[in-house]
Amino acid sequence: MYGKMKDDLQKELAGIREAGLFKEERFILTPQAADIKVEYPEGSPPQDVVNFCANNYLGLSSHPKVIAAAHDALKTHGYGMSSVRFICGTQDIHKELEDKISEFFHTEDTILYAACFDANGGVFEPLFGKDDAIITDALNHASIIDGIRLCKATRYIYQTNNMADLEARLKEAQGARYRVIATDGAFSMDGTIAQLDKIVALAEKYDALTMVDDAHCTGVIGKTGRGSTEHCGVMGQVDIITSTLGKALGGASGGFTTGRKEIIELLRQRSRPYLFSNTVSSIVVKASIAVIDMLTATTELRDKVAANTDRFRKGMTAAGFDIKPGVHPIVPIMLYNAKLSQDMARDLYAEGIYVIGFYYPVVGKGLARIRVQLSAGHEFKHIDKAIAAFTKIGKKYDILHKTKEQIIAKYGE
Ligand SMILES: *Cc1c(COP(=O)(O)O)cnc(C)c1O
Repeated sequence: MYGKMKDDLQKELAGIREAGLFKEERFILTPQAADIKVEYPEGSPPQDVVNFCANNYLGLSSHPKVIAAAHDALKTHGYGMSSVRFICGTQDIHKELEDKISEFFHTEDTILYAACFDANGGVFEPLFGKDDAIITDALNHASIIDGIRLCKATRYIYQTNNMADLEARLKEAQGARYRVIATDGAFSMDGTIAQLDKIVALAEKYDALTMVDDAHCTGVIGKTGRGSTEHCGVMGQVDIITSTLGKALGGASGGFTTGRKEIIELLRQRSRPYLFSNTVSSIVVKASIAVIDMLTATTELRDKVAANTDRFRKGMTAAGFDIKPGVHPIVPIMLYNAKLSQDMARDLYAEGIYVIGFYYPVVGKGLARIRVQLSAGHEFKHIDKAIAAFTKIGKKYDILHKTKEQIIAKYGE
């Protein structure tokens, strides 16, 4: 039987290659950090580069305190639990981390998952059924989209970040028993932060719940790193927040849902990725407790990534690059042309700057870009090196101080 499928798969893979969409993995030979050693392409000599494409926003992926807490966990709580939470997989530290997360976000309760992907996969189906409506931003993360697919509620999609369109969908959904608005806290290709103040106001006006996936904001955005709800002044007003331990908060793995008490309690009873998947490892749990303690004690790391972001955004703007404005450490350098984004990323890599160019279908047609992500792990010398390398390569391609139209006229969309 496999013979036929094998032929089909080989054709499909060849098609992906021909379209230039084949994803390759690059081997990093060091811990995750600002300075890394990368072997790329496979078999070539390792190269020292500055990493500008990790979600390591607070530089905690290899932080000594995080590593020490992980080591300590092995001694005090062992390695694995070989069980789901409700059979014999809950240790004191799982409850401790859940309580700390609730305290940090000023929410009522928290439930851990193996990943934020699972948190999103398990949040809609237990709470919403065929009589309900989910109103979802068109640019929401794949895991929100999949979570909604697993649930029988009617789906209404609104144009990304478009409050008039959201309001129109809310009006359409007025007949439903419950309505919930679902959005990313920040959209990962643009660094745009959702307008949660307006979303919460619309939710109130149209009697809807709100759900925010804050994976790219937790620990980073807001005056004290509490995320997009803090940034938008609506802390405590969002009903359901999902997020990850796999980005700013240490970057290993794990996710959670935090919010209203009854909602979290019902998720513990009915959420399938929680009921039918193994407990989060003690290593992740104790390291995450250490991270939450650090972020509660001081905003130093969050302030540092903000300062790095500000320096990079200002430097790149002065150098003449077309960057999407904002405050998020995700900084899209707009190039519009797919090939240009790949050529420039390759040249920057040769200069020791590791960045990735994105193009359709990962971003919209004609909206190719290089996405830079800043970290508290960067020092100003890293930022300045990146701006200098970008400037050199930008000159080579003659795109500095050019309008979108001029870049498109030269390279096409
Ligand atoms: C990264 C990301 C996820 C997935 O998080 P994991 O914990 O790695 O599964 C979910 N939602 C959004 C918005 C993300 O950016």
